[in-house]
Order: sequence, then C-alpha cells, then structure tokens
Amino acid sequence: MTKPATRIKAGKPDGKQWVYMFDALEAVEAYLQPKTWDEVKALLGGKGANLFEMTRLGIPVPPGFTVTTEACNAYLAHDRQFPPGQWEQETAALRRLEEKTGKRLGDPSRPLFVSCRSGARFSMPGMMDTVLNIGLNDETAKGLIALTGDPRFVYDSYRRLVQMFGAVVLGVPDEPFEDFIEKMKKNRGVRLDVELEAEDWLRITAHFKGQIKSYTGREFPQDPGEQLEMATRAVFNSWFGKRAVDYRNATGIRHDLGTAVNIQTVVFGNLGDHSGTGVAFTRNPVNGDKELYGDYLLNAQGEDVVAGIRNTLPINNLQRDLPEAYAEFIQICDKLENHFREMQDVEFTIENRRLWMLQTRDGKRTARAAIKIAVDMVQEDLIDKKQAILRVNPEQVDMLLHPQFSAAAKEQARIEGRRLVKKAVNASPGAAVGLAVFDADTAEKWGREGKPVIMVRPETKPDDVHGMIASKGILTSHGGATSHAAVVARQFGTPAVCGADILNIDVEHRIFSVQKESLIEVREGDWISIDGGTGEVFLGKLETQDPDFEREIELKTLLSWADEVRRLGVLANADYPKDAERARRLGAEGIGLCRTEHMFFEEDRLPTVQEMIMATSRGRRISALEKLRPMQRGDFEGLFRAMDGLPVIIRLLDPPLHEFLPSYDHLVQDLADLKVQIQHFHTLSEIDQALAEVRRKEDILTRVEALKEANPMLGLRGDRLSIVMPEISEMQIRAILEAAVRVKRDGVEVYPEIMIPLTSHVNELKYIRKILDTTAKAVFEEMGESVDFKYGTMIEVPRAALTADELAGEAEFFSFGTNDLTQTTFGISRDDAEAKFLIKYVEDGILPQNPFQQLDTLGVGKLIEMAITSGRRVRPDLQVGICGEHGGDPQSIAFCHQAGLNYVSCSPFRVPIARLAAAHAAIKEAT
Ligand code: ADP
Ligand code: MG
Ligand code: MG
Repeated sequence: MTKPATRIKAGKPDGKQWVYMFDALEAVEAYLQPKTWDEVKALLGGKGANLFEMTRLGIPVPPGFTVTTEACNAYLAHDRQFPPGQWEQETAALRRLEEKTGKRLGDPSRPLFVSCRSGARFSMPGMMDTVLNIGLNDETAKGLIALTGDPRFVYDSYRRLVQMFGAVVLGVPDEPFEDFIEKMKKNRGVRLDVELEAEDWLRITAHFKGQIKSYTGREFPQDPGEQLEMATRAVFNSWFGKRAVDYRNATGIRHDLGTAVNIQTVVFGNLGDHSGTGVAFTRNPVNGDKELYGDYLLNAQGEDVVAGIRNTLPINNLQRDLPEAYAEFIQICDKLENHFREMQDVEFTIENRRLWMLQTRDGKRTARAAIKIAVDMVQEDLIDKKQAILRVNPEQVDMLLHPQFSAAAKEQARIEGRRLVKKAVNASPGAAVGLAVFDADTAEKWGREGKPVIMVRPETKPDDVHGMIASKGILTSHGGATSHAAVVARQFGTPAVCGADILNIDVEHRIFSVQKESLIEVREGDWISIDGGTGEVFLGKLETQDPDFEREIELKTLLSWADEVRRLGVLANADYPKDAERARRLGAEGIGLCRTEHMFFEEDRLPTVQEMIMATSRGRRISALEKLRPMQRGDFEGLFRAMDGLPVIIRLLDPPLHEFLPSYDHLVQDLADLKVQIQHFHTLSEIDQALAEVRRKEDILTRVEALKEANPMLGLRGDRLSIVMPEISEMQIRAILEAAVRVKRDGVEVYPEIMIPLTSHVNELKYIRKILDTTAKAVFEEMGESVDFKYGTMIEVPRAALTADELAGEAEFFSFGTNDLTQTTFGISRDDAEAKFLIKYVEDGILPQNPFQQLDTLGVGKLIEMAITSGRRVRPDLQVGICGEHGGDPQSIAFCHQAGLNYVSCSPFRVPIARLAAAHAAIKEAT
C-alpha cells in the first residue's frame, strides 16, 4: 500500500488549486483571467491543455490529472519545495483516478500504473523528461504477471520504469543501460528487443537496479508514492536541465514559463501483437500533402518509435495489422484537424486492439509544408487568408529560396561513384555541404570556428541538439521520418537524411563506411553533401544552384495574398540588369538602391577607373571618365528596361577612391618582387619593360599614399567626392539621363531617381543640385527630349536625420542607409566591431542583438522617426524608404511599417520575405 511520501513537509493548503483532473477544463477556465486558450496552455502546458481538450471532445484519452505550471514556478522559486497543498491535491487526484479506473497504485491484485510527463506552454519535442510505468515494483510486477499471464511483458515494462527512473529522476547515465541490453541481445543471438524473453528482461531489470544502487548509493524506490513524488520533482527540475535551456536559447522561448506535470494512466502497447504504439502527422510535414504521415511499431511502448530503436512500419500498414483501431484513428485525426484548424502531430497507443490518444499538438513542418498547408486550409475553408499569412514565418520563405544541388552536379557525382546513398529517408529538404563530424560537441566547436559541418550519427538524442543547431545538415543511419533527428531538423530548417542504414557509422573511430564497388570510408573532416529532399548522400562538395521560383505555386499564391494586405512597398537593391530581372520576378516594385560603384569594379572597367583616379589633371580625368560613360549608360539602360514602369533609384559614387586601387601593402610587395626579378633579366627589352612596370607601380603607390586616410569610412567619400571631383558626378548624371531618354524612345516607361550618399548638410544637396540641373538641361537639349526625374538623399549620418526638415526642402525622397546610420549613430566601425567586441556584447547581453542585423529601434530607430516627421512637415509627399540590409529583416520591417515608411528595399532574394513580413506587420497592427 502507498504511504504518503515522508520527505514532503505537508504545508497548509492555501486554497490555491495546483492540480486539475483531465475532465475539469471548465474549472480551469473558470479560474483563468482572461480565459483564452493561450492562458489555458500557459497554466496546463501545451501537452496538458490538449489532453484536457481531447477529453472534452470525447476522444479516448487515458484518464489522468495535471499539476500546473504555477506549481512548478512556485517550486522553483522556493528552494525546490512543493508549494503548500500541492502534494495533498496530487494524492487526492490519484485517489479519484483510482476510483475512475477501479485500480490502485501499488495494489498487486489490481495495480494502477501512471506516467509522469512534462509539458510546457510551447512544445519542446524531446526536450523534457518522461517516466513511464510508475507503480511497478517487485510486488505489483508479480501481481501483473498473475493478471496477464505474460512475464515477458511485465519485465519489459518494469525495466523501462527502472531505466527511465534511473536516467531521468536519479541522473544515472543512460548508455550503460542501453549497452547492457545490447550485450544481452548478443548473448542471446537476437537482433531486436522484442526477441528477448521474460527471464532476459528480469535479469536486465535486476542489473539496472544494481546500477542505480552503485551509482546513487540507494535502492530503486519500491514505494509507488515515493516514485511518483520523485518523478514530479524531476519533471519540475528538468525545466532547468541543460537540454531544455539550450533548446529555449536556440528558439527564443522564455525561461520563466515553467512546465506542467501530467500524471496519466498507462496504457500498454507492449502487450503483444494486438498492441502497439505510434506517431503520426495529419498531413505530410515534409511537403504538406494532405495524407497521414507517420510510423508505428507493434508490441512496443513509449518512445520506441521516436528513438529509432527498431525499424518502424509506415502508418498505412496499420490498416492491415489492426483495421478497427486504424479506422477509428483516421476519424480522430480528422476531428482534431477540424477542431484545431491546424495540422496535428499525434501520439497513440493501442492496447489489446483498443486505441488511446496520448498527445496532440500543432505539427512542426518544413517551410514548404507550412506554405502548402496554409494555402490548402484556406481553400478547404478551415482558415482565412490572413490566418494563412500569419502561419508562415517570413524567414521560412527564405528556405524555399535556398540553393539546391543541380541535376548535372548530381549526375556527375553519380558517374564518378561518389553517390554513397541513393535513397534514405528524405527527412528535411534542402542541400547541405559540409565536413563530416561525429558528435555534437565537435559540431558545435567547429561550427563556432565558422566551418560548415554535417553531423553524422547512428541516431540523435535530445543531448545532441546543440550540435544539430550548429550543423548545416544531419545524417543518421537509424530512424525514420518521425525520429528525433528528423523532427528537430525540420524545425530548424536544417537539411537531413535519416535511416541511411547502408552506412556503417563508427562514432568511436570517427569514420563511416559504405560498401560500393569498393569500400568507401569517410573520416571526420571529409567533405560530404546531402540532399534532404531526395535522401541522397554524396562524397565531396557538390555545386548548388538557385531554385525555380516560378514553380512555387503555393508560395506565389500566399505572397499574392500578402500583397493585398501590406502597406509597405517592397523594392530591391540591384546593380545589374540580371539582378533587377530576378528581383522583379520575386515581386520587387522597383529598385530602391543601385550602387554605381559595383559597375566600376568590373574587370574590364577597373583599369579605366584607375586611370581616372590616377589622372593628375582635370582634363585627363575627364577623358578617362568619357571612356566610362558609355559603359555606365549601358548598365543603366539595362536596369531601366528590366524595371519598365517602375522607379529606379540610382546612387552616385559612394566609396573612397582608394578602394579601386591595389592595397598599399600589395604594391610594396610587388615592387620589391619586381626589383629582384630585374636582376635576372638579360635582354634590354625585358629590362625596359620591367622598369616601366616599376614606374607605373610607383606612381600608383604615390597616389595610394596621397589618398590614404586614417579613417576612410568617415573620409573623402559619398557626396564629398561629388563636390571635390564634380566631373565624376557629371559623368554619372549624364549616363543616367542619356540612358533614360534612350529607353524612353523605345517605349519604356522610365522613372529615374538620383540619390546622393552620405549627406550631412543641406548645402551639399544644393551644390550637387546645380550640377544636376546644368547637366540635365544640356543632355535634354542635345537629345531633343527630356524625362522626369527625382532628386533625393540618403540619410546615413545623425546630422542628416537631425536636420531632415532642411534636407526635405531640397530632397524629394529620403532613403535610410541603416548600415552607415548604425555605424555613425553608435560611433563604431562595423568591420572592426564585429571581430573585436560586438559578438561578446551580444553574448553577454550588453546589447540585446547585433544592431547590424536587427535595427536598433530605440536609438537608430528614433533618428529615423524624427527624420520622417520633420521631413514630412516640410514636404508632405516626401517618399521615405530604407535600403540597408535591415530592409530584409522581418523585425526591422515591422518597425519600418510602424514608423510609416513608404517602402523597404532589400536584396532580391529577400524580396518575398519582405513582402510577407510587411503583411504580417499590417495584420498585427489591425488586431
Ligand atoms: P515527449 O514530450 O518527449 O514526447 P511524452 O510525455 O509524450 O514525452 O512521453 C514519451 C512517450 O511515452 C511518448 O511516446 C508517449 O506517447 C508515451 N507515453 C506517455 N504517457 C503514456 C501513458 N500514460 N501510456 C502509454 N504511453 C505513454
Ligand atoms: Mg521525452
Ligand atoms: Mg510526446
């Protein structure tokens, strides 16, 4: 019989209800203020809340009760003491469970068994700890044998309790347990757990108890009440276990939510071949198809399926194995989807042909599946368009646009015999190339050093998650589509190939091998490539290519809905016609930033650019610029044609000129080398040539020295160049306007906008405006035709933001260059900062995030808001946008929406992300 556990001080119940029976959802709702579903989940945890909800829906759920997250938080806050009343309520709930089931915990003649399961507000798959079969001890084991006549089953269940209790509650390492089972199987000459017999399990159980004794110095507790109390405590404690903390850090879940504890009557899937256990998704979580997706095992319990211990059967086979249970299962899955209006991930167990549901939650899915399911559910009238938009995280869209292996690269690798695996489980799509590593710590370490790694394991466990996060891809030899590796990979969008059982992975020696025509061995640090979309694995580095956006029908549909609701325009940063075309295909509504300097770096132009910079007189400089003009004009024509009907904002030359010349150190080195070489030349012409080269380099060196600045980022660049060397701007403005007139003649609708970088004073704008007007007048007269154009400025130094009202008198548009604006507002130079202290700042929490990745809304953002307000006061129709890298960051985009910008401009590949993020911002604002 159960004695109340002695170690708990039975405090006076303070009237607070810490424990609710699964059928008491009304009582929970009555307690909560406000009584939203989110609040229910916050109190009962996601797993608990859904167990309550399934019970209310009349779905078969083994009865049980939940200890609330409030109890967990009270426990963690008060020296790990149960709050007053909790334990009394837990035992009272247990009594009620006993009445319900007609069984008693610890009673050998009609024993009750319970599981003790964690469950936090947000599902953290495999991150927390569960103990099954609480209530088994030497006495109830005998009783259960008498009841079932099945000692194999009983001792299999008993060892599971001892094993989980040892690992989860007492902190005994798990491997020796598993190793002993392996050894036992070897001795017995069997391959699978299920082939072991009653006496084997009895011996294993005894051995496990011995392990616990020798590891902890105390016996495995025989008192079921004590088992339950210790398990409750362990689940509470697991909230601050390393695995859980790592996971929360990686996914941004708060650390103060706590976990609930679910105590639930155990149903046995390991009672023979009319029993089993499984996991399924109500839709395909890889591609989103509307079909059941999952696996099961007959004669198995708990996590056997997920742990990848035996090879599982696909869920459809259940129809043949246990038809009635299967039919009921299908109905329940439908019911759950219709109820939650979301794809569900369910766990079930069949005990003697009877189906029991153990869990349901919104299923994790790949980006592709998320998009397809959201769009399909609108078409099935389950959700509306706005809900569909909100269900897809903008960053997920990025994954669909990630590179894939080209068919040619794969074919080549196949011919060369480098395809190691032809088809394993395609568990999480995407192409990954990296160095093979064999454990999570190495993956994390190498990942930190910036090396791309692919983690190779027989299977993965929750302790491996930190390494999985650091990996570009995951490859396992065991386990199926719902194995731990697969689920976690999909969640992080990491490509994964699972269950590649032809690979022989030797973790200890850090090598895996596969028998092809000859034996191929892959060692730690060797390059491999995996295709998580097809389940292929290759030796070496395979080349990747861009995906085909046109074929992404569902994504295009979703984005068209996003366009209906968003207020922000989305433009692209593009310098070449080919980028502009791509951006337009991805939905860009114009070019927000064309950096003209990129054209200067082209191989065939750089010599002319250098000639221009080296010119000692204005005349020489102009003649070099005259050579550049037709080239630039050609570039702009291409851009205008690609953006027919849309605005193109072109920024005049921005970087300091020394960037176009070789570096000082290089030149000095080259000169030294040349002078040594000359001594070995014999013919006069050789020597003459070499001497000419020396003089040329010396000239450049002199110029480089002259251009040298202590702080080029704040030096002669941006509009300062246009003022010191106006002929450069003249040339660029000419090229822009000539190109505009030319394409206009061909019937292209052209909207050129000329933008000045780095402005800090209105007089700079006025000065360049004069050049612009004179040049425009000349061009239009020469060509006998004119075009409309706009004139505007970047805002990228604080003074510009502070004097935005003055600037708006001259400028028709503002574009926030938030990279420079962040540098100049913080007063830090990005390149130095990231290497020297910024990473540490973020790690230590001195800065909440890297301000170059996510806009600093409190500082830089305040400048932006000020500038918009004062600018629009002077010029109400002032067009305002952002063209830094932040323009493609969803959080920064939300800020841009609130701040009232007209558009964001980002790199072409991020245009779809920005479209979706802008729609999110608009929908969230309205609700
Ligand atoms: P996780 O959150 O890691 O999935 P769970 O609490 O869901 O942990 O439990 C682990 C495994 O044990 C799951 O396969 C679950 O279905 C199974 N399980 C939990 N409680 C019971 C029970 N009362 N009867 C049978 N199986 C159970
Ligand atoms: Mg678990
Ligand atoms: Mg579970």
